[in-house]
Amino acid sequence: MSIVKYTVIGGGINGLAVARQLLIDHPDAEVTLFEKESSVAQHQTSHNSGVVHAGLYYAKGSLKAKLCRRGVHLVKEYCEANDLPYDQCGKLVVALTEVEVERLKRLYQIALDNEVPDVCMLYGDEIKKVEPNCIGIAALHSPTTAIVSYEAIAKQIAKDILEKGGKIQLSAEVKELKNNADGIQIIMKDGSVYPETFNYAVSCAGLQSDRLAKNSGDEANPKIVPFFGQYFVLDDQFTNDVKGLIYPVPDPKYPFLGVHFTKRIDGKMTIGPNAFLSLGRENYTGKNFNFKDITDYLVYPGFWRFSFRNIPAAIRESKTVLSQQTFIDECVKYVPSLSKMTVKPATRGIRAQAMNQDGSLVDDFVIRKDGNITHIRNAPSPGATSSMAIAEYIVREVMQTVEAKATVDANDSGIEMVVQGS
Ligand SMILES: Cc1cc2nc3c(=O)[nH]c(=O)nc-3n(C[C@H](O)[C@H](O)[C@H](O)COP(=O)(O)OP(=O)(O)OC[C@H]3O[C@@H](n4cnc5c(N)ncnc54)[C@H](O)[C@@H]3O)c2cc1C
Repeated sequence: MSIVKYTVIGGGINGLAVARQLLIDHPDAEVTLFEKESSVAQHQTSHNSGVVHAGLYYAKGSLKAKLCRRGVHLVKEYCEANDLPYDQCGKLVVALTEVEVERLKRLYQIALDNEVPDVCMLYGDEIKKVEPNCIGIAALHSPTTAIVSYEAIAKQIAKDILEKGGKIQLSAEVKELKNNADGIQIIMKDGSVYPETFNYAVSCAGLQSDRLAKNSGDEANPKIVPFFGQYFVLDDQFTNDVKGLIYPVPDPKYPFLGVHFTKRIDGKMTIGPNAFLSLGRENYTGKNFNFKDITDYLVYPGFWRFSFRNIPAAIRESKTVLSQQTFIDECVKYVPSLSKMTVKPATRGIRAQAMNQDGSLVDDFVIRKDGNITHIRNAPSPGATSSMAIAEYIVREVMQTVEAKATVDANDSGIEMVVQGS
């Protein structure tokens, strides 16, 4: 029997987790991963908040709800098995107004629906038993929310892949996956053709996922629009005022969560990330711009529809971009003892956020199978938490469907499985 050959594009945590899962489930197969950078985990995987989300926000029935809970279990197990730090520091989502208390109660219900362990509502001074310096009318407490280093996890997964006989090709940018009679051909960025063909491919290209998908014959939509998130690190003398994670109650008027306190696995305390349009998909300094990336969204009708609908959000976020003090003030509302805190900027993260043509942001994970090629088209937060569950789901469910074209495209209201073709 001939050996089955799989290829995975993208050495972020999702691509690595998929390659590992393929080697676990198909030990006799050949697995080759292509990564365009000179080492793995250089993009979203190493530029995020490092939170293992417990599942507080995701509507029942969504892929996020399903894969986040399973992902927590798998990440925890993996960290324990590989001696990687996993700090269950807990999280508070804090309401400062009565309107926010009502929203918080809805979040509590979602958390119960998702069977998040040990969540409870706290009122008034009860909050101080968890975070002595935090104020609020009410808070949702999730004691099992944790922090990790996704970069360290990804690098460990890369070692596992090599140990299991998989190949990782670094500095290897793929332009196109071409399905032909001999199998899937890999066309590299310089136009050369990789000498081997593959039976199946999974594309996990993060910030470049829409481009690789389109070049490979998949639909042009949704499009990736990059939103950066700035972080600041508190100077050491202020670190201990907060013990874990303190988040605002999300406002449905704004597409992102709002700046929050996040403890890092190295013990530092950060505030952030805000969310603002990035001048490049991989522009981490914010000091230059990428003409192609900017033109890409400026000519996208969805971008203009999104912009007109989100002017209040843009104004709110631009204040935190333009003024470090406004950024700090947003957080001090929750911890007044930090009103004099001093901070230093940390590297930004850039979200690969998929946007529909109608200007709506795609909320749920989108995984699309086009013949023998599967594309991750949207994997925003909690994409790192869910990575190992996303991998299981792709390898054991999506890749097992026999139809020519399947869309696993879930939104707030649930999962939709559209199957076209024979
Ligand atoms: C600011 C921010 C905060 C976040 N906080 C959290 C959090 O606390 N918890 C959480 O669970 N999630 C969080 N996330 C989301 C999480 O980081 C992502 O869901 C996750 O990292 C996505 O992993 P990925 O492998 O899909 O993408 P990436 O990590 O971006 O990896 C994609 C890889 O593909 C490679 N690539 C791209 N194109 C090609 C090509 N053509 N050929 C070869 N290689 C290619 C890239 O170089 C890259 O290595 C956050 C994200 C951001 C930006």
